[in-house]
Amino acid sequence: MPEGLIAHGRGECFDYLIGEKTQYFAEEAIRAAAAYLLLAKHPVISVNGNTAALVPDHVVRLADEIGGYIEVNLFYRTRDREEAIASWLKQHGAKEVLGVGDDASATIPELFSERRRVSPRGILKADVVLVPLEDGDRTEALRKIGKTVITIDLNPLSRTARAANVTIVDNIVRAMPRLVDTVRKLKSKPKAELRGIITNYDNNKILSEALKFIRRRLNELARTKLTLF
Ligand code: ATP
Repeated sequence: MPEGLIAHGRGECFDYLIGEKTQYFAEEAIRAAAAYLLLAKHPVISVNGNTAALVPDHVVRLADEIGGYIEVNLFYRTRDREEAIASWLKQHGAKEVLGVGDDASATIPELFSERRRVSPRGILKADVVLVPLEDGDRTEALRKIGKTVITIDLNPLSRTARAANVTIVDNIVRAMPRLVDTVRKLKSKPKAELRGIITNYDNNKILSEALKFIRRRLNELARTKLTLF
């Protein structure tokens, strides 16, 4: 969708600002995200067009590692797009993909049009939802119905970044492989240790660290003599 390309461009702009690398604030958020996903009873990974295009293998690997569900969740929902995304994920090893056709029969209150449709076996039932590259209205609506929301969003100022419980400010192509690795590493840890990670995590602090990092980096770049070659 053209809107997906425009959203990707917004992301690239912020990737420049964080130096196109996974920074410490993202590493800390990834640890918290992994702990939440491992402690969840019914974790769901919500997948839109951009996420499916960029990291299909890692969506499938993450779902396998956490024993979670994959659900197609589109801003511009059409049956063709739902099926195309589900089939693409299945080509990458997904056994089941929720949220296609009649499966998306439940609705999230507070949202209108096709954007509110979710699967009763997936997002509606979930305790923890990973919603990468999500729009602000839906993130806020998911919080209001009591979900723990984890997002991956390069823009620390977006409404999604601000509304989520855990915001990984990083490019999804770097963050997802790291999230899968971190889940693998933390999987054998006692639950008390995972709970400790969550208790000590402060998303406001992480967002503020991301903004401070960008400010410092821009100050340094502004002092540096620019050279072409
Ligand atoms: P909001 O509604 O949350 O205020 P928005 O209107 O920008 O923000 P969307 O366009 O639906 O919402 O969300 C896409 C988000 O994903 C944007 O914040 C964008 O910066 C981010 N984004 C785009 N590409 C990537 C990527 N490759 N990795 C991580 N984040 C990305």
